[in-house]
Amino acid sequence: MVFDLEMIKKVYGSFPGRISAARKVVGRPLTLTEKILYAHLWQGDATQAYERGKSYVDFAPDRVAMQDATAQMALLQFMQAGRDKVAVPSTVHCDHLIVAKENSKVDLDRAVQESKEVYDFLASVSNKYGIGFWKPGAGIIHQVVLENYAFPGGMMIGTDSHTVNAGGLGMIAIGVGGADACDVMSGLAWELKMPKLIGVKLTGKLNGWTAPKDVILKVAGILTVKGGTGAVVEYFGEGATSMSCTGKGTICNMGAEIGATTSTFGYDESMSRYLKATGREDVANLADGIREHLTADAEVYANPEQYFDQVIEINLSELEPHLNGPFTPDLATPISKMKEEAARNGWPTKVEVGLIGSCTNSSYEDISRAVSLAKQVAEKGLKTKAEFTITPGSEQVRYTIERDGFLNTFEQIGAKVFANACGPCIGMWDRMGAEKQEKNTIVHSFNRNFAKRADGNPNTYAFVASPELVTALAIAGDLAFNPLTDTLTNEKGEQVKLDAPTGYELPPKGFSVEDAGFEAPAEDGSGISVIVDPASKRLQLLDPFAAWEGTDLKGLKLLIKAKGKCTTDHISMAGPWLKFRGHLDNISNNLLIGAVNFFNEKTDSVKNQLSGEYGPVPATQRSYKAAGIGSIVVGDENYGEGSSREHAAMEPRHLGVRAVLVKSFARIHETNLKKQGMLGLTFADKSDYDKIMEDDTIDINGLPSFAPGKALELVLHHADGTSETILANHSYNEQQIEWFKAGAALNIIRRQFVN
Ligand code: SF4
Repeated sequence: MVFDLEMIKKVYGSFPGRISAARKVVGRPLTLTEKILYAHLWQGDATQAYERGKSYVDFAPDRVAMQDATAQMALLQFMQAGRDKVAVPSTVHCDHLIVAKENSKVDLDRAVQESKEVYDFLASVSNKYGIGFWKPGAGIIHQVVLENYAFPGGMMIGTDSHTVNAGGLGMIAIGVGGADACDVMSGLAWELKMPKLIGVKLTGKLNGWTAPKDVILKVAGILTVKGGTGAVVEYFGEGATSMSCTGKGTICNMGAEIGATTSTFGYDESMSRYLKATGREDVANLADGIREHLTADAEVYANPEQYFDQVIEINLSELEPHLNGPFTPDLATPISKMKEEAARNGWPTKVEVGLIGSCTNSSYEDISRAVSLAKQVAEKGLKTKAEFTITPGSEQVRYTIERDGFLNTFEQIGAKVFANACGPCIGMWDRMGAEKQEKNTIVHSFNRNFAKRADGNPNTYAFVASPELVTALAIAGDLAFNPLTDTLTNEKGEQVKLDAPTGYELPPKGFSVEDAGFEAPAEDGSGISVIVDPASKRLQLLDPFAAWEGTDLKGLKLLIKAKGKCTTDHISMAGPWLKFRGHLDNISNNLLIGAVNFFNEKTDSVKNQLSGEYGPVPATQRSYKAAGIGSIVVGDENYGEGSSREHAAMEPRHLGVRAVLVKSFARIHETNLKKQGMLGLTFADKSDYDKIMEDDTIDINGLPSFAPGKALELVLHHADGTSETILANHSYNEQQIEWFKAGAALNIIRRQFVN
C-alpha cells in the first residue's frame, strides 16, 4: 500500500464539521469545489466567506507530487528548510527525461545512463526526507497519481500543469511551481485566489465513436485556451456519472488547455469501482461514508445558473468525435467537418504518425477501445497506412495490457511501444527526419499540440483526438477519413467499414504488475547522504541567500530596463536550458536573455556601466557581482507573466540583483520574488518608468522602516550629475517583510527547524 490511509481518514473526519461551518458563513448551498476548498482551509473551520476571483486564501493541501524536471529545484530548496521529513505525503516521478526513439527497453536504458546523476539525486533526497520515489519507467506522474494517490474530496498540488488530471477522482488538484511545493512540504500554508466557478452539465450518454476526450475537446472549442483562467470547472449531470473514472481524468487533464485552475467531478460509482480495481477498497468505503459531502448540495445542480459564474451544457448523446488543432488545442473540428476544413486551410491530410497514450489517455479503457480497432486491420484485410506508437501511462497499465494481449495486437499493426514516460508529448521524441522540417501531419491522444511540441519540427501539424479516433486515422492514413461514414479499401480491393470501438472500463481479470517501480523512503532518513557531485553541470546544492544587511541599498546599477512583454520565458528561458533546472549557477546564464533592452531594442545586449561596453545580460550582471555592486532590473506591465517557475526569481537573486521595479507584476512572479528575498517594487507613478536612464545608479531608501503600505523612496542618479527622487509602492505584508529581512522565506523556515 503506497497511499496514506490514515491521512485520508483524518481529512474525511473533518469534512462534516468544516462543510457545515462553510455553509453557515457562505449562507447558501455549496458546490463541490467550494466544499473541498473550505474543507482545506489552513485555519480550520471557515469564519468568513471568501469572494471568488478576489480573496486570497491560505489552504492546507493533503499531498504534493513532483515530476523529475521540476522536482530538482523544489527539492534543492526543500533541503535548505532544515526539516527531517516532508510535512505532507509527497512523491517524485521520473518521467520527463526519457527520449522516445527505438523502444521502451533501449530508450529507458539510455535515459538511465544519461540522467544517472539526476535520478540518483532525486532517489537519495526522496529516501532521506520521506518522499515516495517512482523510478524511471514506473510511469507518468498523473497516471501514477490517479492509480495510487488521488482520492475524492482531497486537495493536492503538483509541480506540473497537468496535475489537474486527479480531478477525475474528485480531487482539487492544482499545478504549481517548485517554490510552492517546497513551502507545503516544509509545513507552510499554500495561497490561492478563491477561484471562479464554471459548471459543465453533461446530459445524455457517450456512444459509438465518441469518447470522454471529445467532451474536453468540445469544451476547449467553446472556452478557448484562456476561457478557464482563474476558474475551477465542475462537471455534473447524468452524463458525468455514466462515464468512467479514467475518462473523467482525461477531461480534467485537458482543463489545463483552457487555462483552468483545475477541474473536478463529484464522487460516484465509477470512482468507487476504480478505487477498488486499483487496490483501494478502504478508500472507497471511507468515501461512501461521507458521500453527501463529496458532491455539491442538491440545489446547486438543480439550478446551476444561481451558483456558478458560467454554465455550459453538453448533450453527450449528440456529441461528435473531434479533432483539435493544428498548433492550438482549442481549434475544435467535428470529424464530419474535417475534410472541408483541411481543404480550406491547406492542412496536409496524409497522416504520417498516430500516437496514443501519455498521461492524458492511457487508461485500460482507452487502450482496449483502441485495440478493438487494431484487431479489425487483420480481420478486414486492411493495412495500417501510418506509423503508430504507444506510450503507456504506467507500468501497471503496460503490464496489464501486455498480459491481455493488447500490445501484441498493436505490434501486429507495426506499432512501436515506447517507455512508460512523457516521450513525444514533451518533445522528447527523436523522430527520424524531423530535422528536415518538412510539412506533415500527425494525430495524437496527448493534450498539447503547440508548434514543435512533439518532435521539434515547426511544420508538423499535430491534431489532438481520442485514442480510438487516432487509431482509426492511423489505419486510414488520412486526416479527412470519417470512420462513422467512410469506407476503406482493403487488400482485396473491397470497401470495408470499421466497426465502432468497444472496450472495457476496467480489466476483467484485474490489474496486475510485477514491479510497479516504487521505492518507499527510509523510516529514518537521518543517516542517508544526498549525492551531488560538486563538479556536476546539472545539479548544484544551494547555499542560503544572505540576509538583508540592515541598511538602505545604495549605488545599485541599472542592469536592464526591459521594454514590453517580459514573461518568465524571457527571464528564464526553457528549451535547451531545461537540463540545467537543478543547477542554479549554470541556469543563471540565461538570465533575462529574452528581454528587450529599452535603450537599444535588442535582446541580451545591455550596457555594462563599469566598462561602458555592451554585452549579454548574465555576463554584465556577473561583472557587477564580482565587483560587489548590487543592481536593479526595471520592467514594464505584467512583468513575470507565464509560468510559476521559481528560477525567474532565483536567478537574479543568485547573481546579485537586489530589486525589480516595474509598472505592474504578474502575481505569482511577484510572490516568487518575495519568497527569494528580493525587493519587488512598482512605480507609484507609472510614468516614472520614463525617468530611468541607461547609466543610472539608484538608491533605495526607507528600508530600515520598511512597513506594509508604506512607499519606498528611490533616488535616480543620472550620468549627467543630476538626480531625481521617485516613489515605489510594494505589496509586502508583515510576514513577507520578514522574508526580505531574513534573505528568503526559506531562511525563516530553517530557523524554526535548525535552532
Ligand atoms: Fe506533461 Fe505530456 Fe508528461 Fe503528461 S505526458 S506529464 S502532459 S509532458
